[in-house]
Amino acid sequence: MAPKRFPPSPPLDGAHRTPGIAACTTDLTKVYGTGDTRVTALDRVTLAFREGEFTAIMGPSGSGKSTLMHCVAGLDSATSGSVRIGATELGTLTDRQLTEVRRDRIGFIFQAFNLLPTLTARENITLSSDIAGRPADAAWLDHVVATVGLADRLGHRPAQLSGGQQQRVAIARALVARPAVVFADEPTGSLDSRTGAEVLGFLRDSVRAWDQTVVMVTHDPVAAGYADRVVFLADGRPVDEMSAPTADRVLDRMKAFDAAGRTA
Ligand code: ADP
Ligand code: MG
Repeated sequence: MAPKRFPPSPPLDGAHRTPGIAACTTDLTKVYGTGDTRVTALDRVTLAFREGEFTAIMGPSGSGKSTLMHCVAGLDSATSGSVRIGATELGTLTDRQLTEVRRDRIGFIFQAFNLLPTLTARENITLSSDIAGRPADAAWLDHVVATVGLADRLGHRPAQLSGGQQQRVAIARALVARPAVVFADEPTGSLDSRTGAEVLGFLRDSVRAWDQTVVMVTHDPVAAGYADRVVFLADGRPVDEMSAPTADRVLDRMKAFDAAGRTA
């Protein structure tokens, strides 16, 4: 990948900015429902995501991974506690300001790609910046597109692309605005393992080459092995962390949790 010759992400300045922290939560709590149907999906979660770091969030089904991602990304609101993207505390924003933060400072990659079927790959990648009236920097767009290997596919619609190619369009779409954080929820969940490895490689390269901050939810130890750090969730709380994970170490840790769960 080319050396860093592009301008860095827009600065996240402000009086409350913590240097080196792209996003963080403080006592983040999310409760769904009331009475008998009340579920505490997140229970006073305090976590920080450092700039230029690739974090994987793991945990059993129902442990709160998606809820955490949605709250940090401003797709869902906290019941209590706070979420910051850079210096911006999401809970203090109007709906309009929140929409702007999501558009300008956050990138999303979903398991189901979420591309618009009637638009070409290129239109999907640039849609958000086009709507914002701030066209993506042409050189940067070319660079991102070349990096994910889509240069000869830009005129294709999603139905004319393989699953891996569609996910690469989604990655390019997420990266092109140089967001403060890219959130990915099971980004390889609907890909075969070889294509999944390719997609994870692109995500890791974006962290290494461009200091992109990436937070990825996954249940796959192999996917987590691409990250710099793994945060393990259980019952809506972070219960453990691992740095420089490998798939084998992550798998061992998961087995240890399972065994502890059975004897508890
Ligand atoms: P994960 O992504 O780790 O599988 P989720 O964040 O989806 O976990 O869910 C955490 C808990 O919150 C689960 O008990 C789930 O049933 C509950 N939950 C998630 N979304 C909703 C919702 N929209 N309404 C009610 N309960 C929800
Ligand atoms: Mg989930």
